[in-house]
Amino acid sequence: MGIVKDILYKVSNKRFLSIFKNQTIFPYYHIVSDNKVAHVDNLYQFKDCKQFSNDINVLTANYKTLDPKDIIENNRLKNNRFLISFDDGLQEIYTIIYPILKENNIKAIFFINPNFVDNNDGLYKHYISLIISHLRNNNFDEKVLQSIGQLFSFTYNTDEEFVKQLINIKFSEREKINNVLELLDINIKEYLKEYKPYITKGQIQEMINDGFYFGGHTMTHPPLNQLSHEDQKNEIVNSINWLKENFNINYSLFAFPFSDKLVSKKLLNELFEYDRNIKLFGNSGLKKDIDNRIIQRFSLENPNKQTERQIVTENLYKFYNNIIGKYNIKRK
Ligand SMILES: [Zn+2]
Repeated sequence: MGIVKDILYKVSNKRFLSIFKNQTIFPYYHIVSDNKVAHVDNLYQFKDCKQFSNDINVLTANYKTLDPKDIIENNRLKNNRFLISFDDGLQEIYTIIYPILKENNIKAIFFINPNFVDNNDGLYKHYISLIISHLRNNNFDEKVLQSIGQLFSFTYNTDEEFVKQLINIKFSEREKINNVLELLDINIKEYLKEYKPYITKGQIQEMINDGFYFGGHTMTHPPLNQLSHEDQKNEIVNSINWLKENFNINYSLFAFPFSDKLVSKKLLNELFEYDRNIKLFGNSGLKKDIDNRIIQRFSLENPNKQTERQIVTENLYKFYNNIIGKYNIKRK
């Protein structure tokens, strides 16, 4: 969170939620788990089952559910609704989140990367987290850090600086991660096979049969701004087409990986040409985008923030953005 949001969170109060309830919201998450998850732990913090169930209680107590069908069919969106979504297709969406949603009769959208479905490959950031967990368990052996730093040509003064640099390597350098895995004697194929970090085709089918919705999230989860225009488009369209081909889906839903901030107008227009009913999801918070087929979400993943206050904060931030002229997203 930025400085302004931090201040707004401090002055927020859960009782304010009733003032803002009319605003329909689109919270999103990646994972919910009671356990440590080595391939995620070093990237962001997440909620446990009890905390997530509490979120569901807060949402259902204050909002009505928004059926993804209404978005797909271009129905006028009503006020005071919520729709949650989950990015990256981690196995916990099937083992933990799906049962909780079912129990509460809540529909949701899951945005997945086809390359990782069935656990033959994984997201490079997840591999990096796994590497950091391994380094941490070995007290950040200086010799090992040095060889990794040399491999990526970065310098560091502290372990935490090292971690930050490793997490932020360029997408084009991701092949070198395999060298690091080898160096550390981590058998990634074994890890994928044993822990099955990602959802499988069979699980996706089961969830679709149960009325849940799936959307693309690119094939390999690249930072789009590090790819050529053509590659960006292919990554996006291929992930949506993969779902259509494998699961007889006839709608187009997609969520931008990492951030939608630098997505060009040209790319958006081409996606609207691909399917004029496509719905695109960003993570810029409560903002209005240049087209109502782009839906903006905010994260409720942080376990250290109180849920009602976080929703209030997002609404206060919307008010603030309105005042400083940043409520309407501008795109080049
Ligand atoms: Zn993602």
